[in-house]
Amino acid sequence: MRSTIGMQTIRLLDVVRDPSLIPFVYDYCDQWCRYCRATPRCLFYRTRDEGRAGDPRDPLTVERFEAMLEEGTRFAAAIADVTGSAVAQLDYDLAAPERSPGPPAIGDPLEVLGRTYMMRANRFLVRSGLDISRDPYFDDATPEKIVAWHHMLIASKIFRALVAADRARHGVDLQADALGTAKLVLVSIDRTLAALGEMGRRHRGPDPGVLTGTLTALRAGVEARFPGARAFVRVGLDGAATC
Ligand code: SF4
Repeated sequence: MRSTIGMQTIRLLDVVRDPSLIPFVYDYCDQWCRYCRATPRCLFYRTRDEGRAGDPRDPLTVERFEAMLEEGTRFAAAIADVTGSAVAQLDYDLAAPERSPGPPAIGDPLEVLGRTYMMRANRFLVRSGLDISRDPYFDDATPEKIVAWHHMLIASKIFRALVAADRARHGVDLQADALGTAKLVLVSIDRTLAALGEMGRRHRGPDPGVLTGTLTALRAGVEARFPGARAFVRVGLDGAATC
């Protein structure tokens, strides 16, 4: 059992039975627990290792980031073992390079554009001087923080949506997962474009024009490739769609 690498399966099963939880809310969130309204009803949040991952309000140091990644992998492994979920299995596969799928997702024009955006955003953030590891907590995220948090997420989740769509074409039950992941990408792009717009209006720091252009093209590409994504409802996250 993969779950022997980390989380206690018995504890997980106990927690899963709690009716106050929103089922699978963690599947299509932006993983920014620091600003999430679903934390009290999220299984991932409920079972996280607080000692290693720290308080979500803590600054995001490299150590915390690595602990969060490890935790995510252990969680996916445990959920895949307990539920047999193809979604959790995909999470687990994507967590390590040796298990991660290659073509056709790697090299797909959308994947390439997502990676290009991530690298451009990275350079932009370096030039803007944001040091997220020293970032204090505020009730609302600043535009800089929004761009920083979402730039890797956008690239990695486009890849994930492409892999899910490819597996779905080969008979794996991941069609809805591809749409849910594409919805997450679109929401992240929308938030980032709004944040870049605010930064641009301040006329301070580097010009966000190139990033805006890349993201706008990316959004059009995702909408064309996943036409049902906008309408996908992420229960617990989209509008009043809680349960
Ligand atoms: S749903 Fe919220 S609390 Fe749960 S993992 Fe996602 S961001 Fe964190």
